[in-house]
Amino acid sequence: MTHYDFIIIGTGAGGGTLLHKLAPTGKKILVLERGTFLPREKQNWDAVEVFQKDRYHTDEVWHDHEGKEIHPGTGYWVGGNTKVYGAALLRLRAEDFNGVQHKDGMSPAWCVGYNDFEPYYVEAEKLYHVHGRRGDDPTEPNMSADYPFPPVSHEPRIQGLNDDLKAHGYHPFYLPLGVKLNEKDMFHSACIRCDTCDGFPCLVDAKSDSDINCTRPALQHSNVELLTEAKVTRLVTSESGREVTSVEVERKGEKLSFKGSIVVVACGAINSAALLLLSANDKHPKGLANRSDQVGRNFMKHHNGAILGVSTKPNPTQFQKTLALNDFYWGDDEFKFPMGHIQLLGKLNKDMLAADAPKFAPDFALEKMATHSVAWWLTGEDLPLPENRVVIDKQGNIELHYRDHNIDGFNRLMKKWTEILRDVDDEHVIPHSLYFRKHIPIAAVGHQCGTTRFGTDPSTSVLDEHCKAHDLDNLYVVDGGFFPSSAAVNPSLTIMANALRVGDHLIARV
Ligand SMILES: Cc1cc2nc3c(=O)[nH]c(=O)nc-3n(C[C@H](O)[C@H](O)[C@H](O)COP(=O)(O)OP(=O)(O)OC[C@H]3O[C@@H](n4cnc5c(N)ncnc54)[C@H](O)[C@@H]3O)c2cc1C
Ligand code: SF4
Repeated sequence: MTHYDFIIIGTGAGGGTLLHKLAPTGKKILVLERGTFLPREKQNWDAVEVFQKDRYHTDEVWHDHEGKEIHPGTGYWVGGNTKVYGAALLRLRAEDFNGVQHKDGMSPAWCVGYNDFEPYYVEAEKLYHVHGRRGDDPTEPNMSADYPFPPVSHEPRIQGLNDDLKAHGYHPFYLPLGVKLNEKDMFHSACIRCDTCDGFPCLVDAKSDSDINCTRPALQHSNVELLTEAKVTRLVTSESGREVTSVEVERKGEKLSFKGSIVVVACGAINSAALLLLSANDKHPKGLANRSDQVGRNFMKHHNGAILGVSTKPNPTQFQKTLALNDFYWGDDEFKFPMGHIQLLGKLNKDMLAADAPKFAPDFALEKMATHSVAWWLTGEDLPLPENRVVIDKQGNIELHYRDHNIDGFNRLMKKWTEILRDVDDEHVIPHSLYFRKHIPIAAVGHQCGTTRFGTDPSTSVLDEHCKAHDLDNLYVVDGGFFPSSAAVNPSLTIMANALRVGDHLIARV
């Protein structure tokens, strides 16, 4: 049996980025990915297929703490959820690393600081072709290098909004985006600046995802082997319990087993926790790496809200997701606690609206709404609670226990932004839950994190500062699970930067 230096499980923001970092070392690397390459097909850009029929979501059914079904808004592909993400690639704020007082409790400090992450943010921004402009966002942390590419420009309707917001004293900024766009030479630009980006796969491979930017280039190295449709079902340890000795896989009805010196789990926060829990044995009776009983706990997913600003002004914008605002990230005069982050959503069309509208809503009304609206995406920080957790039921399936908390700041942000839009843009704002249907809000797991948090104390954390399991010598977790707090900006750039950081540690180790 081949013995690998590294086995990486999962190719999303964490696993794919780590693979890219390790591939040039020449070490023997096996990548196990449960999905296939996402097919390039016309349906990639078809809103009915993507939003109404959930074409790229798993058909797995999970359950909540009351046994109600959850149809998770997640997919299994080479590239993981970055295949469909909006590619908004933001750094956390420097203060997010230090511990922040919220209305309902403390957001815990990270065991490494912003300055430890900073060089890896620079590296990740380069690797993922991030477009942006420094200096417009007052909450921006210090940055040692400029963005590698200029900001993605606003189309006229959004530029108007930007100017109006500025005239009212707000600080909108260009949303940092990972797309391969060359606005100076559109003829040669890979990205065509279309209206089916946020939530869709990119048919022309111009979105910076961890498949296109990391996994495929890594496969050019002869020391890298990728096995798709390879679902890891269990990690087996030595008798002492200190090392993972083999990785068990189900592939097309067959059971396979692989051996590696270092095993990296990067299945996404929920599936990584599930895999560790499912790998319980005599030495690890509560699950692998779970002496602290923290595996699966402290699950976070952000408070997310989508709102639609409908106005009399037509909105012919194609690529809409270009503007963001952090003016209330830390609160305002009336509310001295963090509230959250605001960014534009991709352009909506009638078929996307229909996914969330009552069945009787007529097409022409949805069409009118779509062509006269601007859609926003708001995120607020949820705090880590031990009872919000991933649990494995008796059949070995995933249960997700989650209750809303620390939500006042976010609710205020939704209300405040609605009022501001009315004031600044004469918009009539209505709530909308585009991605994740209203009746199953817990299915909104796009921003999942926290289930295997890192820290220096093995009694309160699962991973050490290098994301190695405290309880094992050769097991690492490199996905969104390591977050001790969720902050309030999109998580991917931090997952990518962390994978590069852990990559340096692993290179030094071997
Ligand atoms: C619609 C949508 C829009 C989003 N937009 C943004 C955005 O604009 N900006 C942003 O920062 N974030 C965004 N996100 C979130 C972002 O996609 C995730 O934060 C990120 O992909 C998480 O990275 P990860 O490595 O933790 O997990 P994933 O990217 O989910 O990767 C996990 C990988 O593990 C594989 N896997 C799972 N279980 C197993 C197993 N048992 N065996 C083998 N392989 C396994 C999966 O197939 C997958 O490849 C969005 C998410 C969604 C759904
Ligand atoms: S906007 Fe660009 S990156 Fe996004 S889907 Fe369209 S072509 Fe691809």
